Amino acid sequence: MSASIKLPDDIKEYIDPIDQVQKKIRKLAELIRNSNHVVMFTGAGVSTSAGIQDFRGPYGYLTLLKEGIQSTLADPTRTRPTRGHAAIYKLCEDGYIKHLISQNTDGLHLRSGIPVTSISELHGNINIEKCPVCDRSYWRNSNVLKSSAEVKETHEQGRRHETVRQCENCDRVLQDTIINCFDHAESPHQQPLIVAQNHTKLCDLYIILGSSLIVYPANCFAQYVAIRQKPVVIVNCQKTPYDDLAYIRIFAKIEDFLPLLCRELGVDLINTEVTDLELDQSFKDMIITLNATKKLDCVKERTAQLRMKSEHELMQILTERFILYKPIDRIDVRREHLINTVVKKCRNTIYWV
Ligand SMILES: [Zn+2]
Repeated sequence: MSASIKLPDDIKEYIDPIDQVQKKIRKLAELIRNSNHVVMFTGAGVSTSAGIQDFRGPYGYLTLLKEGIQSTLADPTRTRPTRGHAAIYKLCEDGYIKHLISQNTDGLHLRSGIPVTSISELHGNINIEKCPVCDRSYWRNSNVLKSSAEVKETHEQGRRHETVRQCENCDRVLQDTIINCFDHAESPHQQPLIVAQNHTKLCDLYIILGSSLIVYPANCFAQYVAIRQKPVVIVNCQKTPYDDLAYIRIFAKIEDFLPLLCRELGVDLINTEVTDLELDQSFKDMIITLNATKKLDCVKERTAQLRMKSEHELMQILTERFILYKPIDRIDVRREHLINTVVKKCRNTIYWV
């Protein structure tokens, strides 16, 4: 299979010499020790060693598809967290990482022991289904997309999120939480984006692992942190469009990089078992509480922040939006209209307020 594919330049992978990697890791460890709110962002490159195919790597799902090769994505519920996931768990547990943001939907971070309060899964989680009415979430040890895929075939409007199960609380049909490319404008599952946004605002060091930073909102996060003049560190074998923004840029496999970083920080990975939690009732109870608390906090915080802003600041927010997301042709500069415009845009999409 590999011999028949000629790799375009943007697909090529690069590996730094080991002495360079170690030098950069020493610099990164120093940065981590001197930071108060480190946020880590993970992409598909973190899960490839678990046997889950990435999308844009040399043999990624989309790369192969462009070559006319339809590959079958592995079911993540049949895989296990890796030593890389365990390393990230330890870094969180030891307090080096304050919050984890992930593009991955495979559920492996949660299964490795990361508390649900410490992670924002931007694109959802294949193990979780959620009630669109009362917000109750349910963890399933199977892949909930299998049931929603069956429902999809019965609809003509394209991708639907409904699964075949009903909410135990209000009997409504549950939905999967997976966010697709075209879902951002209307998906009800925006909460992780808002939480991730809040941590990104607080962060003084942003470490990106295994992401090509092609898709929204991963690219916006990196750009936003760089605009705030906080250090961005990118670890990925492929080049990314944001490499020039990186304070430290490391070309390495994630499974090679993480043990070296742990060793440099004195984090004991050798005696750390790779955990694979069965998340059951305890997870369910925890996430219900979390949903309600986070939603209330976010609404309160956003409203208070907007009230504090001047007309000029609101204009700046909209201008940033213009750069980061989509054009705004004409803006009525009256204050209330500006606030309404910002609130409207906040409601369904990630937003910096
Ligand atoms: Zn419900």
